[in-house]
Amino acid sequence: MRFDELAANLDQMEGTKSRNELVRILSDVYRAASAGELAPITYPIQGRLAPFFEPVEVGLGERLLMTAIAAAYGVPKEEVVKLNRQTGDLGVTAQRLARPPEHESPSVVDVHSWLTGIAGASGPGSQQQKLANFTALLSNLDATSAKHLVRITLGKMRLGIGDPTVLDALSFAKKGDRSLRPVLEGAYNRTSDLGLIARTLWESGEQGLDALKVTAGHPLRPQLAERLPNPEAVIKKLGMVGVQPKYDGLRVQIHKAGDEVSIFSRNLESWTEAFPELVAAASGLKVESVILDGEAIAYNPESEEYVPFQETTARRRKEGVQQFANQAPLRAFVFDVMFRDGTDLTQLPYERRFEIAQEVLRRSDTLLTAPLTKTDSAEQLTKELLDNISRGLEGVVAKRLDSPYQAGARNFNWVKLKRNTSGRLNDTIDVVLLGYYLGKGKRAEFGAGALLAGVYDADTDEFVTISKLGTGLSDQGWRDIHQRLSSLEVPVKPPRVRSNFVPDVWLKPALVVEVLADEITPSPRHTAGMTADRPGFALRFPRIVSLRTADKKPEDATTVREIQEMFEQQKQRGST
Ligand code: AMP
Repeated sequence: MRFDELAANLDQMEGTKSRNELVRILSDVYRAASAGELAPITYPIQGRLAPFFEPVEVGLGERLLMTAIAAAYGVPKEEVVKLNRQTGDLGVTAQRLARPPEHESPSVVDVHSWLTGIAGASGPGSQQQKLANFTALLSNLDATSAKHLVRITLGKMRLGIGDPTVLDALSFAKKGDRSLRPVLEGAYNRTSDLGLIARTLWESGEQGLDALKVTAGHPLRPQLAERLPNPEAVIKKLGMVGVQPKYDGLRVQIHKAGDEVSIFSRNLESWTEAFPELVAAASGLKVESVILDGEAIAYNPESEEYVPFQETTARRRKEGVQQFANQAPLRAFVFDVMFRDGTDLTQLPYERRFEIAQEVLRRSDTLLTAPLTKTDSAEQLTKELLDNISRGLEGVVAKRLDSPYQAGARNFNWVKLKRNTSGRLNDTIDVVLLGYYLGKGKRAEFGAGALLAGVYDADTDEFVTISKLGTGLSDQGWRDIHQRLSSLEVPVKPPRVRSNFVPDVWLKPALVVEVLADEITPSPRHTAGMTADRPGFALRFPRIVSLRTADKKPEDATTVREIQEMFEQQKQRGST
């Protein structure tokens, strides 16, 4: 496949407002692709060169790309800068300035390997080399290809192709319907690598997908927790459980494969560089290979207290990692092990996995197993919950002792219990910002009035609205949020957003915000949970608690199904 053919399809996808249409176009692209072309198509359409967990970046920012555009098209750089101020999109700037190329378009495979080569350049003089190679590539492309190449390089695709859309498109390409979704999803949950899955499906069919196994070094999608309203409900549903404190830190997946240690965040980005003390601790473990799941928390060695979530996440910034490591070193409370010395442990019962985790971590004082108490008594569980809350923790997680590790699943193997404030919602909701209204009066000064917020519909891979948000932030908070939003603004409603509201400015669904509300109410206008014969859901008195930019992708926001369940639980609480 030539790169200009892919680019023409990306243009069509950009023009569509319907998700079904997006899936159709993408499945046509896949149908026309050979096995070797699948990875070089799949990563770039999400603005990447490799799976999310591999930190491969082209390493050319906007300024250098402007230099490349100027050189490729023989125009002064000031002209590029000026035009870019008008278009606000460097891809469109390149498209406008592009000249017809002399040669036929390179193939998708060539473009991908060319960019990968640029990403790999390092050492003295590499910046010049990167620039020269990128300029050469750009001058060989037509205008539409140039637009998409620049966006891929910046990691700023405007298509909103989420992972479920890719999985659907692969299924349609092979079967003409969605029937392959479960097999594809299973393989995806174990490997988190869409390019690998696509190639495997083409080369060895469904059996090949089944044969893709958990591997040290490749993150698997994390198991997630369900909610239940109170300890009685937990014991009634799960019987005997293992109870652990619920730490408010950062989810970490720690991999050791031989001498290599990597650490992944909840959304499977590589955070290895940010956590040197966890890397050192994992390197010292007496195992050939292992995958651990846990929660990392910074603590203050002097006061021996754990520091709050926001301070733990400050680590993400590249600067000052070592300083942080000295001042507030991290510990990880490990609650699971999925792989050890070449063996996949995910199918073992939790009780056994926990024992293995204890064996593996016996001598570490940085990687600690999260304490586990067994009980089938609601009173005992209540006591654990209250104890943990009084120690300043969020609550507890109760786990079925006989459950396997189900990668990517949110189910009743794990149930989180937090403080219950009688009748009110006892948990925060993670919403995605979808748009904003231009503020009036004082608000206008901060650049934004109310925000339009949504949740994720995992069945349709869409974002649906649930609330407008107007409170919870200080004046400075509003300014900060608006600054973050400016890079997410898009001219029209993104294809995966379903909304009856039309905000003044639409946003690419990317920023996740944690909100607390009093209750969930039916709504005739919000699209969350709305069907032909049922109204949607809205939040009553929502207020922003924190920005969850550090560890959640938009698809990790609260789902419609969870909102539905919270609504049911709220009804039950109301009637008792
Ligand atoms: P939530 O993000 O509210 O859905 O709660 C689930 C999260 O709690 C997990 O993703 C972990 O990051 C965190 N967590 C803290 N302590 C535990 C624990 N002992 N077991 C499982 N998850 C935990």
